[in-house]
Amino acid sequence: MKVFLDVDGVLLGCDRDRPSRLALADHALELLAFVLPRADVFWLAPQGRGDARAVLDHLVQHTRASDRERLLALAAKVRAAEWRALRTEALPADGAFVWLDDAPEPGELAMLKGRGWLDRWLWVDTRESPDDLRRAQQVLAKRLGAGVASQQR
Ligand SMILES: [Mg+2]
Repeated sequence: MKVFLDVDGVLLGCDRDRPSRLALADHALELLAFVLPRADVFWLAPQGRGDARAVLDHLVQHTRASDRERLLALAAKVRAAEWRALRTEALPADGAFVWLDDAPEPGELAMLKGRGWLDRWLWVDTRESPDDLRRAQQVLAKRLGAGVASQQR
């Protein structure tokens, strides 16, 4: 199973002290630590088209110093995805994926709908719901667990 992660609005939410700024969302490190051993994990974020380094730089810029070392150790294991116009071009043709995103573009939503893949999109919005990654991890636990079970059958 592949897991695709958006960054702004997913791993980065609002800074509590300065809500106009981004900051590492609550539970972001826990979510990465949970998902990395269980799935192939890719960035599917505008900053990271074919360039995982750009995502790391963006994340570090918005993460407090005390969390940076752990963040980098985890985030360095996430790979870059490639696409040209729509991020959905990077999704695997077999449909075996989960995509965490706060706001897919209309064309991306249309592609998901056309393929019957809307249920692979897990809506997360850590700017609106600061605790949202805790819920997302619970959903991922069910989907990745189901994926392992179906492969064994
Ligand atoms: Mg986003």
